[in-house]
Amino acid sequence: MDDSVSQLDSTDLLIGGERRPASDGATLPTENPATAEPLAEVPAASTADVDDAVSAARKAFRGWHSTSPDERGRLVHRVATEIREHADELARLESADQGKPLSQAESDIQGAARYFEYYAGAADKLEGKSIPVGPDQVDYTVREPYGVSGQITPWNFPGNLFARGVAPALVAGNAVVVKPAEQTPLSTIRLAELCERAGLPEGLVNVVTGYGEPTGQALAEHDGIDQLTFTGSVPTGKQIMRTAADSVTPVTLELGGKNPAIVFPDADLDNAAEWIATGIFTNVGQICSAADRVLVHESVHDELLDRLVEIVEDYTVGAGLEDPDIGPLVSEEQFEKVAEYIELGRSNDVDTVTGGETIGRPGHFVEPTIFANVERTSRLACEEIFGPVLATLSFSETSEAVSIANDLDYGLVAGVFTSDLTRALRLTQQIEAGNVYVNKWFGDTNQTPFGGYKQSGIGREKGLEALESYLQTKNVAIDLGDGTDLPGG
Ligand code: NAP
Repeated sequence: MDDSVSQLDSTDLLIGGERRPASDGATLPTENPATAEPLAEVPAASTADVDDAVSAARKAFRGWHSTSPDERGRLVHRVATEIREHADELARLESADQGKPLSQAESDIQGAARYFEYYAGAADKLEGKSIPVGPDQVDYTVREPYGVSGQITPWNFPGNLFARGVAPALVAGNAVVVKPAEQTPLSTIRLAELCERAGLPEGLVNVVTGYGEPTGQALAEHDGIDQLTFTGSVPTGKQIMRTAADSVTPVTLELGGKNPAIVFPDADLDNAAEWIATGIFTNVGQICSAADRVLVHESVHDELLDRLVEIVEDYTVGAGLEDPDIGPLVSEEQFEKVAEYIELGRSNDVDTVTGGETIGRPGHFVEPTIFANVERTSRLACEEIFGPVLATLSFSETSEAVSIANDLDYGLVAGVFTSDLTRALRLTQQIEAGNVYVNKWFGDTNQTPFGGYKQSGIGREKGLEALESYLQTKNVAIDLGDGTDLPGG
């Protein structure tokens, strides 16, 4: 067993401050993606366990909601301190369980601490408005938490996304029940322990590990859940939205993308190639905001490709804990999915500029791969692969690039590479995406709102905007005496 795993106090469920196995004793294995060897067993929570977790959260919510905002902020800030104090251990745990290169896991964990710091400072600034309705009435709004937030997270950034959802939910005054992905539960378990160590009340943060069904589904359809936050695939996101519709539960969905990087002839091609390689090959492409399709002007297509190939062929491959450039994919299932796309490229006569093979070693490794001159309607150009596979397409006119960029139902992020500021600004207006980067990729921070247009999602994570998902507005109208007139009177 990896030493980082043996440091976990327990891998049990965390419900109402208690560690316990699943009520029916069921477990699920999590593996090391670099070896495909088992790493740990965690409980597979039953519907009854989800009931208990939601009840515990509801109980904790009452006390938390009436805790003064400054005290809420102080306690949430202590979580950040705990995370920073345990950052090395958390990063090793994440790298072992998810497979990502250690330095990327370290960065994710620092980002997780930062979410708790950032939102802690907002706890006592969630102000309402005073609305001038005339002399006979006082009117103001109050921003109140929903109650219990159900959070379903994916396997690509488990620890970081735990923090991204839990920190604003708590600061707004909600309690949470978190269901991590079955492939990567360990950092969530540890982070919830650290929330307890920081002094958050029992039951405020609950963790139910388990499968999508029944555990995730039981959480999504639970009538004690007042708000749902989901990050993952479009089909599961749609299913959660349908489920939530029955009880009119608000949802925040951060779904996938097929994100265009548009490169113009006047771009600094070295800079563009560096950012695009980082954008697609970080976390072996398992990122919703990966730069997974490059639209490059035909006059610089080959020059850009040469630069990309040079970068990629220098990459080291290895287990996450060895901190290579390229680690394994998270699971056998994801490996098979990515291998199918690679095979599709190879069998469809697309130019394989580099890579194009799986790597014959234990674990789930594939070569970083670039397919060039891909048809705009092909699956490689239109579908989210979620692996280290880049498709390049060339264009001749700006309008053609914009049309290709906006052609899909996705609209998560996009990038524009040009030295012409006017062109860059025009493009930022024309592109249908929630985030546009100019001459860089991954430009967002904890402080900036992130989310999708079209089928890439609803609502925003990060930044102060994320708090909107966890707050509802109450309007209070107070009569001052004489004002007996009806509205409009
Ligand atoms: P997924 O099905 O969307 O899983 C995301 C989360 O939803 C996991 O915790 C999952 O639990 C849970 N879940 C699954 N079915 C559920 C249901 N019926 N009700 C409630 N929760 C449910 O994604 P996936 O199957 O792991 O990955 C498939 C593809 O999704 C990837 O290849 C990639 O294209 C995309 N993806 C996108 C993101 C993103 O950041 N937008 C992240 C991960 C994956 P289990 O893990 O137990 O199934």
